[in-house]
Amino acid sequence: MNAIRFLPSDGLPALLSCLVKTGRRILAPVEKPAVKSSVVFEPWSEGKPLTLQKATVPAKEAVLPQCETLLSYRQTKNADTAALNLDDTPNAQPTVVFGARPCDACGYAVLDRPFLQGPFVDPYYRARREQLVVFTTTCGSGCATCFCHWLGGGPSSPEGSDVLMTEIEGGLVLQSVTDKGAELLNSMPPAAKLADGAPVFRQAEEARKKAWASLLPAPDIKSARQAIAGIFSDANFWQEQTDRCLSCGACTYFCPTCYCFNITDEGDGYEGGQGGRRLRSWDNCMSSQFTREASGHNPRTDKALRMRNRVSHKYSFYPENWGAASCSGCGRCVCNCPVYLDIRAIVLAAIKHAGDK
Ligand code: SF4
Ligand code: SF4
Repeated sequence: MNAIRFLPSDGLPALLSCLVKTGRRILAPVEKPAVKSSVVFEPWSEGKPLTLQKATVPAKEAVLPQCETLLSYRQTKNADTAALNLDDTPNAQPTVVFGARPCDACGYAVLDRPFLQGPFVDPYYRARREQLVVFTTTCGSGCATCFCHWLGGGPSSPEGSDVLMTEIEGGLVLQSVTDKGAELLNSMPPAAKLADGAPVFRQAEEARKKAWASLLPAPDIKSARQAIAGIFSDANFWQEQTDRCLSCGACTYFCPTCYCFNITDEGDGYEGGQGGRRLRSWDNCMSSQFTREASGHNPRTDKALRMRNRVSHKYSFYPENWGAASCSGCGRCVCNCPVYLDIRAIVLAAIKHAGDK
């Protein structure tokens, strides 16, 4: 099944309005000029201005909320009986992420592997992922911090997307890349202002070609997995790469592919009854408390060991398990690091260092 549509420039609100009427929550990029010119995904409603700029923060929360309740419990007791009621229903809402970039959509593909394709399927992730439709804006050009093409992606890569949207003169060309995307496009009523996109599809292809041509040549990083594994025990290397890191964790919070989490149990206390909940929250491997054990022992006492873990996970352990890097090359960790640490430089240095040994 395939669908190609054209949306005139003034048609975005009409399309979004029709998508809202399908009962879905629409997460769209919204400008927040007061906060360092950030662009963040927020629920869209009629009349809300949106932008198709690349978001500062990816819409990872659509599948992995920063904090979620996995289950809640309540104990009821009287003189004769006692019962424990558990509610572990996944909290999922049909959602359209509208205006992701290919590197963000690739992030969903990275998360799908451990959450859906391993020996244990995560029911909470699955419930949200199944109800998610991703509309991705293809990029018009590369930028200094993007490096998706180092990792097999690109400005119009379809991985993780359901619909690709490409800007051409006078509007957007929307192309389905999955059945889910095609079904949604085909179900749109005339009020969505979508016209047949076949006559202008050539223009979208030209725009995509131009974007690919704007990318700087990518270095060959095929040996990164073995190189990083080979220098795992080289403490000096990791120390040098990490010296100026502040352990602030920005690199992980902005990342579309980081998925470490922590689980905590929280009781209501005795006064309010005997109940509580189990929460899952994002964790951050750059934090000094990451992997701290209940005894107080922490196997990663030093920030260099934590950086080694972060880089190794993305470029060595994950590829070993899943055959691809757990980095989409979005560059958000590069442009949001307060001390300009660049994961690209660390990977290239690792390849060189392993070759020099
Ligand atoms: S590691 Fe950096 S470049 Fe790679 S996906 Fe995460 S934020 Fe983007
Ligand atoms: S954003 Fe930069 S300074 Fe902060 S933890 Fe990551 S690498 Fe270190």
